[in-house]
Amino acid sequence: METLQDHKGIGISSEPIIGRDKLGQLVPVNVFRALRLEGMKEIAGRGANAIIYRGGRNLGYNIGQNISSKMSNKTDLNEYLTDVVHIFEQLGIGLVSIADGSFNNGQVYLQVDECVTCAGIPNIGETVCHFEGGVVAGIVQNFTGGVVTCKEVQCWGKGDKTCMFEVNL
Ligand SMILES: [Zn+2]
Repeated sequence: METLQDHKGIGISSEPIIGRDKLGQLVPVNVFRALRLEGMKEIAGRGANAIIYRGGRNLGYNIGQNISSKMSNKTDLNEYLTDVVHIFEQLGIGLVSIADGSFNNGQVYLQVDECVTCAGIPNIGETVCHFEGGVVAGIVQNFTGGVVTCKEVQCWGKGDKTCMFEVNL
């Protein structure tokens, strides 16, 4: 069975992108959304959501690996989450906060404001942030070591003004 560790992928890095001397790492949010919301649907239809979730989860796992490799106390959840918040902001994915629940009782609600995928989009009657949900799941899974599921329960795509992810450990 493939594991998340098998997906080293591109990970994340602050290194300059080779071949992007002038343009650097950043692209406008609109370009990202054209690929993410329109392009992916064209390519994979409804199955796109699961694929995007898995891609996000692999990235999240790598982000988690990066974070924990730099931590002196690998079990310090507060330090881990503080770094997660910074990286989400640094990468422009969104502004993360814990809205409810706790890691101890097995269910946490993570809020993501200014989400790169959905902030400001009209109500289309469905959640759209499967990528971010996957990233959250991968990050949490890296810390807990157990299987984690993550479901988006609030989203601009559903008429909310933020994203809310229900994480079950
Ligand atoms: Zn959303």
